[in-house]
Amino acid sequence: FCRETKIFHSLRTPVPLPPESTPLSTTSFAFSLLPSPLPSHPAIIDAATGASVSYADFVARVRSLATTLRSRTGLSKGDVAFVIAPSGIDIPVLYFALLSIGVVVSPVNPLSTPAEIAHQIRLSNPSIAFASAATASKLPPDLPTILLGSPRFRSLFASAKETLPPVEVQQSDTAAILYSSGTTGRVKGVALTHRNFVSLVAMYHASLQEALAEAAEEADDGPPVSLFTIPLFHVFGFFMAIRSAALGDTIVLMERFDFEAMLRAVERYRVRFMPVSPPLVLAMTKSPAVIGHDLSSLRRLGCGGAPLGPEVAESFVARFPNVEIFQGYGLTESTGGVASSKSPEENKVYASTGRLGPNTQAKIVDPVTGEALGPGQRGELWLRGPSIMKGYVGDPEATASTLDSEGWLKTGDLCYFDDDGFLYIVDRLKELIKYKAYQVPPAELEHILLSHPEIADAAVIPYPDEEAGEIPMAFVVRQPGSMLSEEEVMVFVGKQVAPYKKIRRTAFVSSIPKSPAGKILRRELVNQALSLPKSKL
Ligand code: AMP
Repeated sequence: FCRETKIFHSLRTPVPLPPESTPLSTTSFAFSLLPSPLPSHPAIIDAATGASVSYADFVARVRSLATTLRSRTGLSKGDVAFVIAPSGIDIPVLYFALLSIGVVVSPVNPLSTPAEIAHQIRLSNPSIAFASAATASKLPPDLPTILLGSPRFRSLFASAKETLPPVEVQQSDTAAILYSSGTTGRVKGVALTHRNFVSLVAMYHASLQEALAEAAEEADDGPPVSLFTIPLFHVFGFFMAIRSAALGDTIVLMERFDFEAMLRAVERYRVRFMPVSPPLVLAMTKSPAVIGHDLSSLRRLGCGGAPLGPEVAESFVARFPNVEIFQGYGLTESTGGVASSKSPEENKVYASTGRLGPNTQAKIVDPVTGEALGPGQRGELWLRGPSIMKGYVGDPEATASTLDSEGWLKTGDLCYFDDDGFLYIVDRLKELIKYKAYQVPPAELEHILLSHPEIADAAVIPYPDEEAGEIPMAFVVRQPGSMLSEEEVMVFVGKQVAPYKKIRRTAFVSSIPKSPAGKILRRELVNQALSLPKSKL
């Protein structure tokens, strides 16, 4: 911590990055890190079928697809490709191919409703979509769509006969548009650059090299097999897929997450590492199903996306003494993890999400006075570094209120650092609800509630839940004379949103507390919800 500038600097060794002006795509950078000859273990395995792709095949498919997409679909640098499909083995191939030719990848949750998709399409303006059979019907008919797994898609993998001049991708070019509601309002498109990805991949690569040099557990323990329990459309999975391929891991994918299938996959593929969100740690700690499976290969969990209760982490470690939990903190706007624990000693600080990653700076800012604070003091976390987003697409106003002129990203999280540089996430200042680490923007649900003719006013807040972390709870003011029931409210919203965004509790009130400026006083509602007897909810 620098007392003069009030900036927290990373305690990690800075990681050298390629010069910013060198043309470089995420794909070329990732592939340049792969060992030569390529790893002999598979690059990707489909957990359910056991189908796999070798590293040689993976690289060849990426190259062919990159060429045929240009020559046969006319895609070119700067175009946006919408990807809406479950986590199949074609997805990482598609991501890397698109990234290599400077086409912006925009992945979304396959459970999104047509209305949610329409909003995302307005934001990112894609010229093509890649969809599964089940998701294609939710896309607007005028968006050219290629079905993953279809003969047409397969034909694009056939080694390309054409030779096209290479595409020059600048690191400052947008690589991906992911979706996040940020600190307020509806979903926005987060523009992440190749530089953002390159910097984080470089950091993971450096950290692996360090571990190998210290002859840590990686050295002699069989192939590094990573099972993805997290989806590939969210920043966590999206980034981890890029990172895992760059580090030469075997990525095991599950098209549909299922707890027992996950246990079977760990056993069958001798999984060493799983990126997870907190509900999975809780499930592993509690589930009796775990006992019937040989999970002895498992060494590490990388947990992030939402707060992990220190008591959950402790019970997990008591049950699985040979598995380390590495915690991480990050957000879509920071391309993923910007603070993490890195060693067994750091992992034991269960209440912390670890220390600031290399090349990253932080400030803790008093949300009322705007004053920058020191260690031990709570305030909003601001971040600066090479993995911070370029901005929200087509929304200069939202960008300006989130990224200041000096490049600081206002995270909307209430945090503090202790004297040893450990970061603690205390609370969320922003509107966001996290249901099983998925983003649920309250403003979106409020908008839907207010469209109901019998609802006069409404507010949606996070309500604590052991399993999901938080669930969306609605406070509803009925129109005079209305007999609208809790059930009717939940069904009304449930029909219009993806399942994870459903309202799961409702309370009827006579008014919604608001500030003089008309802003919903959410903290007051959260306190009100917590003080209500359970039966009243
Ligand atoms: P997303 O953009 O979906 O990744 O959501 C980012 C938000 O999730 C952060 O701003 C935090 O509010 C929350 N979050 C992510 N990781 C953690 C963590 N390790 N502990 C607590 N909250 C977290």
